[in-house]
Amino acid sequence: MRVGVTKEIKNHEYRVGITPNGAATLVRHGHSVLVEAGAGAGVGFADAQYAQAGARIVPSADEVFDQAEMIVKVKEPQPVECKRLRPGQVLFTYLHLAPDPEQTRLLLESDSVAIAYETVTDGNGGLPLLKPMSEVAGRMSIQAGAHALEKAQGGLGVLLPGVPGVPPARVLVLGGGVVGINAARMAMGLGAQVTVMDVSLPRLTQIDSDFGPRLLTEVSTRENIMAHLPQTDLVIGGVLIPGAAAPKLISCEMLSAMRPGSVIVDVAIDQGGCVETSKPTTHQNPTYVVDGVVHYCVANMPGGVARTSTLALTNATLPFVVQLANKGYRKALQEDRHLLAGLNVHRGELTYEAVARDLGLKY
Ligand code: NAD
Repeated sequence: MRVGVTKEIKNHEYRVGITPNGAATLVRHGHSVLVEAGAGAGVGFADAQYAQAGARIVPSADEVFDQAEMIVKVKEPQPVECKRLRPGQVLFTYLHLAPDPEQTRLLLESDSVAIAYETVTDGNGGLPLLKPMSEVAGRMSIQAGAHALEKAQGGLGVLLPGVPGVPPARVLVLGGGVVGINAARMAMGLGAQVTVMDVSLPRLTQIDSDFGPRLLTEVSTRENIMAHLPQTDLVIGGVLIPGAAAPKLISCEMLSAMRPGSVIVDVAIDQGGCVETSKPTTHQNPTYVVDGVVHYCVANMPGGVARTSTLALTNATLPFVVQLANKGYRKALQEDRHLLAGLNVHRGELTYEAVARDLGLKY
């Protein structure tokens, strides 16, 4: 199969859909790989590395779209990219169609086959192509929080691990899923005193058995959160109710219990945030202050560490790319129900029920 990789054109998106190593893997399987010049430059992959891997570098995205049978990207296609898609062409990327009627319409009109990373499933009920980005965001949340706690950033002026003779900072992690556990691991690694709260007792049991007594667990209730807030230096918001807006676990009123200079990193901001005062921010302007509390609410945290994120994402996507290329999309989808779960648009028809429901379209 001819597999195409284009340079991402969404604002401040530096990740790339296939790395030079990924290209080499596809070439080894007998496929040809077309790479738009400069596609990997934002994350340090030079055209020469792709060429050495056996890929063909072409000067423009138009040529990739014209020649490739499958396009592998990172972000949802922008309108100009949707219009370049050809009938029957396979698009494998993040789509997030539910809140995006315009993109959905353009994909339906393109007559292409659009498979969304975010709805591919695994045998444990997980979403394996979302997980790497939650791992990145969870780990990054402690870096971001530690920085925001510095005085010059409006923070308390507290060092997470403390020093001999000065106690460590207290970190409260809301949600013990992928984001929460990765945040907790980082914070513990730095020597902070960490509590994780979740509504799921089985989750808390698992966390307790994985981490032992150094990581404190509590059931997530309004009262328990409230009891922590006055002493907490850093709150990490990592809750998720699949398919729904994040529950607001810290109200405006509860925020006033926090000390001025304490910090909230609301990772769940892409689902609306779990703090009433959260609103999305960018890497250019990541924080703002409400009631003296520093809020960090960057909606695309992994974009800030685009090289690590590219490697993490492509580790997870490449096996599916290889399957699709080796078998052709029909056979690959027929033989793997988890990959089939990723199919959102097939040749002019919407094939993902939740997206159709949210957009009021025919399924
Ligand atoms: P996950 O499903 O692995 O974990 C979510 C956890 O939240 C679950 O354990 C669940 O039991 C728990 N939960 C649900 N309601 C709760 C409540 N009321 N109190 C406490 N815990 C509760 O999800 P995840 O992969 O860790 O993702 C968490 C959030 O982070 C999602 O909204 C995801 O989209 C977001 N995210 C954001 C970025 C970003 O750049 N901002 C990047 C990656 C992920």
